[in-house]
Amino acid sequence: MWDRIREKLQILADAAKYDVSCSSSGSTRKNTNKGLGDTGNGICHTYTEDGRCVSLLKILLTNFCIYDCAYCVTRKSNDIKRTAFTVQEVVDLTINFYRRNYIEGLFLSSGIFKDADYTMERLVRVAKKLRTEHNFNGYIHLKSIPGASDELMKEAGLYADRLSVNIEVPTEQGLKLLAPEKDRKDMIQPMNFLKNEIILRQSEKKLFKKAPLFAPAGQSSQMIIGATQETDKDIMFTANSLYKNFNLKRVYYSGYVPVSNDHRLPGLGTSVPRLRENRLYQADWLLRFYGFQVNELVHNQQPNLDMDIDPKLGWALSNLNQFPVDINRADLHLILRVPGIGMLSAKKIVEARRFQRLNWEHLKKLGVALNRARFFITCNSSYFERRDLSAKQIRHFILSGSDKKTFSAAVTQLQLF
Ligand code: SF4
Repeated sequence: MWDRIREKLQILADAAKYDVSCSSSGSTRKNTNKGLGDTGNGICHTYTEDGRCVSLLKILLTNFCIYDCAYCVTRKSNDIKRTAFTVQEVVDLTINFYRRNYIEGLFLSSGIFKDADYTMERLVRVAKKLRTEHNFNGYIHLKSIPGASDELMKEAGLYADRLSVNIEVPTEQGLKLLAPEKDRKDMIQPMNFLKNEIILRQSEKKLFKKAPLFAPAGQSSQMIIGATQETDKDIMFTANSLYKNFNLKRVYYSGYVPVSNDHRLPGLGTSVPRLRENRLYQADWLLRFYGFQVNELVHNQQPNLDMDIDPKLGWALSNLNQFPVDINRADLHLILRVPGIGMLSAKKIVEARRFQRLNWEHLKKLGVALNRARFFITCNSSYFERRDLSAKQIRHFILSGSDKKTFSAAVTQLQLF
């Protein structure tokens, strides 16, 4: 019996590794009634080299699928070993692994057997059994099946912490090319439903403390990068509209891993550099937390992010007229735009300057990366760098390794100017 389960686990965990959208932050489900586990303040999620999150049991319910999406290893035309868990098997595995401290929660996705509702109903049953029969308070992330009914989505939200619907390919044309049987509407509709339902349940919760939780960690999505010709601009504009229109918590960017020699896809030897994924995540971070607009980062003149420098530095170099920022007077939103100053340091600066004027030494202590920031700020009315440096020169200084220098080395350099 265990051999059979182990084999299924091997196949279905391996098939799930291509899905990167399993971060578990943002849920605060409490352990009540002496139940089992709790999500605490964000489960520790560790990623293996191939992007797999190892703190969650991350599996597919099945790798049978009626669809034939060219970019997917589970596509029906792919000649691979197929298998499926029963609902009870997934429940038992989760409880066993949890008790042994292997995992802190469950990430459950699935190929689509028969139809969307048939598959979604099984995913929901797993979550329902865990919550109601085992009083399981660990984290559950269910992948929603595009095209599943509103009733099932509603039920899923009652038991899962997070739900996600994959947008899969950044543009509709890309989806038509690689997954012609699929319809973008089937992905957008459940996202819209979840958004409305989450808002409704949150307002209910404010009025009635005992109102049930509904997907408390919100919804997320994932798109595959590099399977089609989309630019970073196409990708970021799609992500931006998902954040704006559906209140998504996260959009994940999954570099295409060659799984087929289909002529519509990049060749088997090519894969998307990890750096491109990183740059997209950095840009995404700027949109969500630093007040940047998407068209400030990518536009027709610059449809792709610069691979050599991070997007914030890229923006600063293209907008030198916005600098220098006076660290003792500027608003928080301007300080946040300075390369080398993160959210935490920016907040500390605003707090600390209430009590004294800040100098360079203070900034260093507040965690500012002066090796970058020094080109873009003034402090106590003084410049750290020559004022006449061009964008090209600053870029050269930073890329040539001066960004690795310590503050004291930078001071020495200043004295030489
Ligand atoms: S529907 Fe999902 S599992 Fe099936 S082939 Fe397409 S991407 Fe893969």
